Amino acid sequence: MTRKLFWEDMYISEFEAKVEITDGDTVILNQTAFNPRGGGLVCDTGTLGGVGVIEVTKDGDTIAHRLESRAPFGKGEPVHGVLDWERRYRVMRMHTSAHILSAVVNRETGALITGNQISPDESRVDFSLESFDKNKMSSYIDRVNEAVRRGLEVRTFFLKREEAMKLPGLVKLANATPPSLDVLRIVQIGDVDAQADGGVHVRNTREIGKVVGLRTENKGRNNRRLYFTVES
Ligand SMILES: [Zn+2]
Repeated sequence: MTRKLFWEDMYISEFEAKVEITDGDTVILNQTAFNPRGGGLVCDTGTLGGVGVIEVTKDGDTIAHRLESRAPFGKGEPVHGVLDWERRYRVMRMHTSAHILSAVVNRETGALITGNQISPDESRVDFSLESFDKNKMSSYIDRVNEAVRRGLEVRTFFLKREEAMKLPGLVKLANATPPSLDVLRIVQIGDVDAQADGGVHVRNTREIGKVVGLRTENKGRNNRRLYFTVES
């Protein structure tokens, strides 16, 4: 089991850890600040002991780092990790924006979220909607930016599953209910949104800057995709 430093403090960009397992170019540590790929988010990149980390994945409670070359350290050795913070911070801003966007569209239309991809440069959310035009997109994006400008606090906390399921609108995901765990991590964005979520977010919506709608795409009869980015 890897201790998730990014859950304790999402602003950790450097950390010390101990090597537990190495296998060729793959390293498992006792703890890490590298957020693995999952939940629509790209993984963090950076370095471990000065060697590039190109992929981070999770398998249950274990997080594996794939290096650009064979690991030069062995079991039990200390190692210093450094995240590509510019990339990670953009992912945090994008991710919190995606939650606000999902909440706005869900509230306005009842649409569910059928997919998302959060990347540093451009992100997207898919909605179960039959129609979605440029005017609607810009009105939703305006609502998102109103929430961003209100400087809403983003809180993360843990709740027992039965308590969490009482929160209104907790599950807006069409295909994925929260995983069957006894305790869920909840991410709450002011009075706008609360979701069961394992990803990384900003502390305050003001850090997002400005959300910009880029384009929409039809992905089937009842599926609309909205692309967006964030600007300072
Ligand atoms: Zn999320």
